[in-house]
Amino acid sequence: MQSHSCDGLAEGGEPDSALFHSLKQFHSAGRGFWNDVSDTDWNDWRWQLKNRITSLEKLQRFLPTLTPEEFEGTVLANHKLALAITPYFFNLIDGGDENCPIRRQVVPRVEETHTAPWEMSDPCGEDTHSPVPGLVHRYPDRVLFLVTDRCAAYCRYCTRSRMVSNATGYDFHPEFERQIEYVSRHPEIRDVLLSGGDPLLLGDDKLDYLLGRLRAIPHVEFLRIGTRIPIFLPQRVTPELCATLRKHHPLFISIHSNHPRELTTEARNALGRLADAGIPLGNQTVLLREVNDAPVVMRALMQKLLMCRVKPYYIYQCDLISGSAHLRSSVRRGLEIMESLRGHTSGYAAPQYVIDAPGGGGKVPINPDYILSRNKDRVIIRNFEGKIFEYPEAPDGTPLAPPPGKIEEPELV
Ligand code: SF4
Repeated sequence: MQSHSCDGLAEGGEPDSALFHSLKQFHSAGRGFWNDVSDTDWNDWRWQLKNRITSLEKLQRFLPTLTPEEFEGTVLANHKLALAITPYFFNLIDGGDENCPIRRQVVPRVEETHTAPWEMSDPCGEDTHSPVPGLVHRYPDRVLFLVTDRCAAYCRYCTRSRMVSNATGYDFHPEFERQIEYVSRHPEIRDVLLSGGDPLLLGDDKLDYLLGRLRAIPHVEFLRIGTRIPIFLPQRVTPELCATLRKHHPLFISIHSNHPRELTTEARNALGRLADAGIPLGNQTVLLREVNDAPVVMRALMQKLLMCRVKPYYIYQCDLISGSAHLRSSVRRGLEIMESLRGHTSGYAAPQYVIDAPGGGGKVPINPDYILSRNKDRVIIRNFEGKIFEYPEAPDGTPLAPPPGKIEEPELV
């Protein structure tokens, strides 16, 4: 049997490619078309919001290489999921590359109007688990507390595109008092996740009020915020916001980043401010076709997140949201990526890959198969290099569940 070290480092696991090293670099988003804007305005999150690209006319002006598919998609976007891109994030788009991974995430395409039979407007079944408006109670001890339907920019694959931006007339009106009252009446709820839309678009005072009310409920043990603000609008992460958030510990934040180029010097600084406020940071990535479904891209992203003090938390298989087929990558690809991470880089850089079971089944962990066979005496496993090992089972007499299919016992090394 081969021994292994406990540091999780693999020899020769690092991809030696120019692309990998270039993806790992931190750059500023720069000013692009907005060179004449004052520093004060550029660094003001409200200026960024006011000057978002939200119309076809503006998009064509800044992105003259708009393809016919993008043109048509943008014409139709306001009936499905609105177009909005902050000037800061727009500067990350490579105008000369039709397949730019940043562009694919935020510029509408006509394919969004094609719906496959298995696609849904509410793929996670949130509306059927909503006891009061704006609150989803799907898991026993935690709830999703939706606070707004607005985001700094809109992701074309958004799971909540039925409501965010209000393009489909969902008419989302959270009722904070009813939501808070529900949480206070349910002592089993120990974990509240604020989401939306993007909760960090609320003003500091409103956030302070909401977090304070939830924190005052004795059985609520910790609070979480899901946000893409550090990626779309790092200017929003002001010292004042950080001072507000740190009053409500334990508070965790999950950011959402899909490509290493999103981790600019501005994003890294914003994440550093949140980390300095004592907030544990995790990241959620959606596996997206021709955005990040390549091991070299995903490994650069995960390693760069750690450099920004963010722990990679989940890689999501893209939900079956209506009109997302052109952005959905395969589970096979996701498994290949997980294989390329586990053992080949720091364990901290390997998140959990999950499928949110269609219709409301919750997150299901998906892993490459490392158990080759097992019985009451032993477990046969393989490592990241494909080497095979035997682990003797403890003699507790508990029979293990049989493996899902018959697997021939492999030859041991
Ligand atoms: S930031 Fe989140 S909620 Fe907003 S559009 Fe993107 S995925 Fe949807």
